[in-house]
Amino acid sequence: MNYILLGPPGAGKGTQAKKIAKKFEIVHLSTGDMFREAKKFDKIINKFLVTGELVPDEVTVDMIKNRLLKDDIKKGFVLDGFPRTLNQAQALDLMIKSQIKIDAVFFINVTFEEAIRRISSRRVCSCGASYHIALLASKKVKKCDFCGKELSQRDDDKEDVVKDRITVYEKQTKPLIEYYRNARMLIGINGLKEEAEVFAQISEYIDKNKAKKGK
Ligand SMILES: [Zn+2]
Repeated sequence: MNYILLGPPGAGKGTQAKKIAKKFEIVHLSTGDMFREAKKFDKIINKFLVTGELVPDEVTVDMIKNRLLKDDIKKGFVLDGFPRTLNQAQALDLMIKSQIKIDAVFFINVTFEEAIRRISSRRVCSCGASYHIALLASKKVKKCDFCGKELSQRDDDKEDVVKDRITVYEKQTKPLIEYYRNARMLIGINGLKEEAEVFAQISEYIDKNKAKKGK
């Protein structure tokens, strides 16, 4: 079982990918995590991340290619953050050919306004916890429920940066939706629902798909 998650920033891809990986015992392949990891030893990736430049497709594709060679992906995976451009999607098709089959592409859809609202209300703690101030997940609002440290806002979550991220998404990632729809792989998920409900929609599909495969 191999899946791809698509959706604008703020759609909750990372959260959903983690839940899917855990429930269905497959590997969570997050390019964000991979970049952060690679930053430590890969000079090329480090250079892009430090300057804030967009990592070129070839570099990302190479990273994914290497990752897909590892044995653990045989139990299945969920891709989060890749592919992000049409170019990357075509590269993925080429690299997996007939050896790996993507079962479905989940498109978690949220409106532009909702994406902005969610991201700009996100606060993070250095311990890894994250909160939405609008939803008031932390009882103490400005302090972390787990460790008590002050919460802060990630630089790329600030409103003007968020608008840039969404513009990039509209331009680069939206064509992917058409691409996978034409390939009859796209499964639309209503991302405006609560996190648990979004996960239920995805789980239901995966369960059905598993049953169909007779596993
Ligand atoms: Zn904390």
